[in-house]
Amino acid sequence: MAEQQSSSSLIVSGDATATCWSCGTMRAEHFCSACGKVQPPVPVDYFTFFALPKKLNLDLPALEKEFYELSRRLHPDLFARADAREQQWSLEQSSLLNDAYRTLKDPVKRTEYLLRLEGVELEDQSKSATETARATGEMKKQVVPPDMLEEVFDLNMQLEELRAQKKMGEDDPALLEEIGRQKLEFEEKLEALSHELQGIWRKWDQAIDSNSEQERIKIRDQMVDLLNRRSYIRNLVRDVSEVLES
Ligand SMILES: [Zn+2]
Repeated sequence: MAEQQSSSSLIVSGDATATCWSCGTMRAEHFCSACGKVQPPVPVDYFTFFALPKKLNLDLPALEKEFYELSRRLHPDLFARADAREQQWSLEQSSLLNDAYRTLKDPVKRTEYLLRLEGVELEDQSKSATETARATGEMKKQVVPPDMLEEVFDLNMQLEELRAQKKMGEDDPALLEEIGRQKLEFEEKLEALSHELQGIWRKWDQAIDSNSEQERIKIRDQMVDLLNRRSYIRNLVRDVSEVLES
């Protein structure tokens, strides 16, 4: 597993100070707790931005409430007559807030982000990565989950056949049905993986609570495995849809 990516790239840069620039008392994360002035963003990850532990089970309604509360307090209208620095900081805090919220509210994005903070580089199986790989003829880093080799091989053969048929302007209903059935199976697998991921979250959160380094690494690797598997299957489903709709 590649671990070269530094987590520092996930953290926004800023001037980290422990006291409020305006009144000099201990500052809170976004606004001074004493004078209420907006503070310059400090280098923090998204969990810390929301004062959350690096756990995966989140109280989503509470997160949403906090997001709207901070959005309201950071609204540009409120800084229209503030000095240039404060305007700038409120914009920076606002953009950080949006990024943090978008990432944390989504179960998969949240997990991927946490794994990147843990120094893990996930396989890039996004649509754009696939398209770039196709366009450049470059091999994309994509490993077939070993227990799926046979299934994937069969599916690819059938997709080839269907593509050829479509070119000739004919459709074999039996082949279409078979491919449709497999697509459904893969979609069910995706659903099952989402449930499985939530089970792993619980174990992760327990490992954080018990401060077990060994357990944390074990669970981290389980999540990486699951997410890579998930994006692999998601890509398969996408490929099948493309051929069916072509
Ligand atoms: Zn202050």
